[in-house]
Amino acid sequence: MLNSFNLTIKTSHGKYNVKIGNKIIEERNLQFNEIWITDTNVASLHAERLVNDSILQEALEDKKSLDSVSNLIQKIRHKGGNRDTVIIGVGGGIIQDLSTFVASCYMRGVDWVYYPTTLLGMVDSCIGGKSSINAGKFKNIIGNFHPPIEVIIDTNFCTTLSNEQIVDGLFEAAKISYAHSQNSFKKYLSLVGNHRLPREEDALSAIIEHSLSKKKFFIEKDEFDKGIRLKLNFGHTFAHAIEGATSYKISHGVAVGLGMLAAAKFSARLGLIDKNQDSISTLENHIRALLKYVPTALAEIAALDCSEAINCLESDKKHLSDHYTFVLLNHTGELEKIQLEKSSAHKELILFTFNDLRRIIDEI
Ligand code: NAD
Repeated sequence: MLNSFNLTIKTSHGKYNVKIGNKIIEERNLQFNEIWITDTNVASLHAERLVNDSILQEALEDKKSLDSVSNLIQKIRHKGGNRDTVIIGVGGGIIQDLSTFVASCYMRGVDWVYYPTTLLGMVDSCIGGKSSINAGKFKNIIGNFHPPIEVIIDTNFCTTLSNEQIVDGLFEAAKISYAHSQNSFKKYLSLVGNHRLPREEDALSAIIEHSLSKKKFFIEKDEFDKGIRLKLNFGHTFAHAIEGATSYKISHGVAVGLGMLAAAKFSARLGLIDKNQDSISTLENHIRALLKYVPTALAEIAALDCSEAINCLESDKKHLSDHYTFVLLNHTGELEKIQLEKSSAHKELILFTFNDLRRIIDEI
């Protein structure tokens, strides 16, 4: 018998339930007012399990755009979508971001349900209610909050994920666990099992349960990302820059792993951390071990255009007009929001950090 469990998330709009299990999609009764938006790849890989009159959407970063939002809205209307329509989003983070945004503004807002199909969607993005849309190379620069009314995690979708897609999810789960506490990160490492790549549904299910229960702590305390939830942005300032500068050839989860390594190097360059801090070196070793499973991404980083990466980093939405905002490590290994003046000295340190990252990758 495979693991199954439930979680409830409290928001300012009420509660929603997260159900996790194996082959649970089939148990849900279809409602007359549902309109499905399904990732094109998932629709062909899992055709027998999904409705066949879904709106299909390619899950590509350059499709996470306002053009796609407008196309989806027109298709929903052509299907007769009204104010009582419930949108069902089926796919990874890209389909989730599009479904959240579309549901938030279609006829001023309709309900939506999410079926995450990637490990990243299952361990992280499925709760929290955020939408993020890109404008060209400016990653996640548009967005809002519109939580789903239900999340259904069917781990059977993981059977068709590649190793890289498993690594994507593990990096986000590692980030959440590390941001929560040292004990939580230790527990995560024990669930992953000595830096190997877990593929069994039971092992993945335990990682999903652990990661979501820790993320719940942050999003219920700080639903709108004004305080403690910012810690979950660890690695993301560098990650979004890497994604933009490589024209999204590096997947988001892998970029987050690389971004956490860069944030650790940047913290060291700023003199914020003690080099012998155990939790930081354990995190770095774990990331290096998982990066061995994604050789194509490593080759992209070796050719990274560092000045283009800085241009992309400057557009991160956490920065203020005169200050950069980073989530960095402190001397105890904990995460802290750090603001740095936008000076040429700090810009140079950021450039050195991207070079550090290329050196680390060379050694893997
Ligand atoms: P994705 O949506 O980018 O999809 C990646 C690839 O996996 C696509 O080719 C897709 O077709 C394929 N795929 C999806 N499910 C599959 C399955 N079961 N088997 C085989 N292939 C499958 O995936 P992602 O990594 O989950 O999402 C990354 C995106 O999520 C980024 O745009 C990121 O910014 C966003 N994100 C959003 C939040 C949030 O809170 N809104 C949080 C984290 C990440």
